[in-house]
Amino acid sequence: MTFLRHDNRPFTASDNSHRLSVRWLVNPGEHPRENCCITIENGLVADLRPCSSADHIQPWIIFPPLVNAHTHLEFSTLQQPFCVDGSFPDWIRRVLEWRNETTDDQASRIRSGVTESRNAGVQLLGDIVTGPQNSTDLKSWQGINAVLFREVIALTPARAQSQLDEMLQHLKLCAASQQPGIQAGISPHAPYTVHPDVLQSLIQLATQFHVPVAMHLAETVDEIQLLRQGSGPFANLLQQIGVWDPRLFPGHRDPQEQLEQLRQAPQALVIHGNYLNEQHIAFLARHPQLSVVYCPRTHARFQHPTHPFRKMQQAGVRVVLGTDGRSTNPDLSVLRELQHILTINPDLDISSVLHMATTSAATALGLPALSLPIRPGQPWHCTRLQLPSAALSLTQAMRHPDLHPIAESDQH
Ligand SMILES: [Zn+2]
Repeated sequence: MTFLRHDNRPFTASDNSHRLSVRWLVNPGEHPRENCCITIENGLVADLRPCSSADHIQPWIIFPPLVNAHTHLEFSTLQQPFCVDGSFPDWIRRVLEWRNETTDDQASRIRSGVTESRNAGVQLLGDIVTGPQNSTDLKSWQGINAVLFREVIALTPARAQSQLDEMLQHLKLCAASQQPGIQAGISPHAPYTVHPDVLQSLIQLATQFHVPVAMHLAETVDEIQLLRQGSGPFANLLQQIGVWDPRLFPGHRDPQEQLEQLRQAPQALVIHGNYLNEQHIAFLARHPQLSVVYCPRTHARFQHPTHPFRKMQQAGVRVVLGTDGRSTNPDLSVLRELQHILTINPDLDISSVLHMATTSAATALGLPALSLPIRPGQPWHCTRLQLPSAALSLTQAMRHPDLHPIAESDQH
């Protein structure tokens, strides 16, 4: 499999040597380097050193490549997110209505999301997809590295077999594809839409094909109520759409059940995890193949209580960032998610959170080589941001609304 680098060319060892001097180089967990001169030889970082007075320093911040671990590009042509009034199942009804009514074709919606993501400096994303059906559909993701988590909704045995057959086709299609940057993934949607036996079959497929899994879990109190009590707004929704089976939701169920299943996959993303408790967090910490994806602005939009990401990180859980789709978020910028975290957690700095949208996020998607720290000996591969003003400190710049990635065409 080949992957793409920041300027959309495949990695090669034929680059000319050159030097680049930048105002800031920031690696996760390291002290930021101010006025840093980077020497690049044959596509590798050869040297990092302080700039000399003769160097022309670009007003840039350099990061390892940005990664958006969770999105739904199918919503990328929405001008604004869906209204969140009412219960979460009410919001889901709006999504289902929109899916029935939209006239934009799926390929153009995804292409719009790929273009927006690239302009936002994102070089790898985890996309939840309802296709693709063939190699032509795969071309919608051309120009970006993407794990295509095919979504499964199958609460009833009647849907299960066709969904598993389609998943098998998806895995074979991606495995046979010659398109650079594409990898398959599996997404059992959520506990309220996937039968436990279907989830188990999907985990087996993930193991057989060695691909990652992504599942929305512990996202809302309504979901927890459905599992623990077998009642509430989700029970009403499932009854309304004719898929309610009281034997599936007898009460006394818990997200721990899904965590136990997900840990059997080679790698799994727990999407949101907003209502996971200390016991779940301790379990996640014991299973490094499991990562949690926190979507900060989506989380804020639904006005959930504070996300437990700091408690999770203290326990040793890998927590990474996603934008979710434009159905819940105004854009697809994972940089804006980082900025949101820094704004609501004034005691944190960019070095302490950057891994969530770069190196750790690539690891969570099973592709750690696509976002490595910028160090001698590593492939030269980065996201560049334009400082809004040379007078700003790094702390100020990282919280500034005009901070933005540099378009690929302006980098050379
Ligand atoms: Zn999602």
